[in-house]
Amino acid sequence: MRRRDFLRLTALACAGAATRAHSSTAPARPKARVVIVGGGFGGSTCALATRRLDPRIDVTLIDANYRYVTCPMSNEALVGLRTMASLSVDRAELVRAGVRFVRDRVVAVDADRRRVRTESGAAIEYDRLVVAPGIRFLWGTPQGYDESASAIMPHAWNAGAQTELLAMQLRAMRDGGIVAISVPAGLIRCPPGPYERASLIAGFIKQHKPRSKVLIFDANNHFPRQDVFTAAWKAHYGDTVEWISVLDGGAVLRVDVAQKILHTSNGGQPVAVANIIPPQAPGELAVAAGLATGHGWCPIDPATFESQLVAGIHVIGDACIADAMPKSASAACSQAVQCAAAIVATLSGRTASAPVYESVCYSMLAPDDALAIRGRFEIAGRAIRAISAPADETSQARTSSAREEVAHARAWYRDIRKTAFGA
Ligand code: FAD
Repeated sequence: MRRRDFLRLTALACAGAATRAHSSTAPARPKARVVIVGGGFGGSTCALATRRLDPRIDVTLIDANYRYVTCPMSNEALVGLRTMASLSVDRAELVRAGVRFVRDRVVAVDADRRRVRTESGAAIEYDRLVVAPGIRFLWGTPQGYDESASAIMPHAWNAGAQTELLAMQLRAMRDGGIVAISVPAGLIRCPPGPYERASLIAGFIKQHKPRSKVLIFDANNHFPRQDVFTAAWKAHYGDTVEWISVLDGGAVLRVDVAQKILHTSNGGQPVAVANIIPPQAPGELAVAAGLATGHGWCPIDPATFESQLVAGIHVIGDACIADAMPKSASAACSQAVQCAAAIVATLSGRTASAPVYESVCYSMLAPDDALAIRGRFEIAGRAIRAISAPADETSQARTSSAREEVAHARAWYRDIRKTAFGA
């Protein structure tokens, strides 16, 4: 599926649902209130899509921050291929579209009274609530890796200050130093992200610190498009990148932050720069609101994203269990559009039509080479499963030239920012 098709499908989903919503002959009623907590890719897209589908709905978006720094393309910023400022968006376009933006943190949800409470003490009532809080980190894995350790060994798995810290450490590293990336087991946001990061750091090393190396310590025994990444590393960087699978003792068990040593079952490895990506679970609010299972993530109805655990609340983006869909910005946007259509339909006493979801993740392999991992997904029973055909649309083969794929990646980034933030 091409980038333009993704946007067309998104637009069609909005247009179709909007037609259905406005053709309603229902008598005038009080304005329905949709409250969305979390203004990342999922929440912001849902806010814009809901307003576009039915401008009569009162849409409130609550986020702790007025500015949002995108994780997509943050690996480029790490190695100086783009500025941090270029990753930053604000809420101005959302407000212009009629979304009420509240800068605050939601600390509690009262599902019986249908209202949320914020850190500043406000109580905000809703008819439908969307929770899109992204992820939280499970500190303590590896042993010794807590939030304070991330000030020395950055994770950079939320973009912003952590990205800047890791970038600064890479610039300051002596030539010959080892950069280690520790990848956790289990579900993480952006599954190809660690390997894109390794690629771009290797590119930086090739140019500025040619005697250095990148070691990927992996708690897994395979990773997405391992074939393409491995071939690209060899072609672009020779032996600079070394991947150590869990089967070869790749899982980091303990970190010695003061000495900068990573301990695995093979012993201790001193490093110059340690990028430790911790295991992940949904944002705190999902847990506080009773939306997450004991296993961690939030079960939802795959057609509406309404929680299976709490009625009237929808969970989208990284926090939800979307089965075959990866935890990516494009998946979050695709879910958000459907969630908005389902809410608008429900508020008008109708049912939204069955969706096809999409995701595309671009990984930069080098400044002039990129890989796209695309997927289309459909609902099968209570699950979301990958659609395997037709081959030309869903093929994982690299059908475009390296330079074309880089251009697609840049255009995708511009487009998805527009879809989510209007800017
Ligand atoms: P987020 O974008 O994390 O947004 C969550 C928002 O909720 C935040 O703004 C936060 O402030 C807010 N929030 C949380 N709790 C509260 C609360 N209690 N009250 C108020 N606000 C709250 N995806 C791609 O598709 N393509 C890529 O190329 C890509 N590259 C990536 C590269 C890296 C290095 C990383 C780490 C990720 C990448 N991703 C990529 C993944 C993508 O960033 C995430 O999947 C996406 O951001 C998920 O969107 P979300 O809305 O679920 O969560």
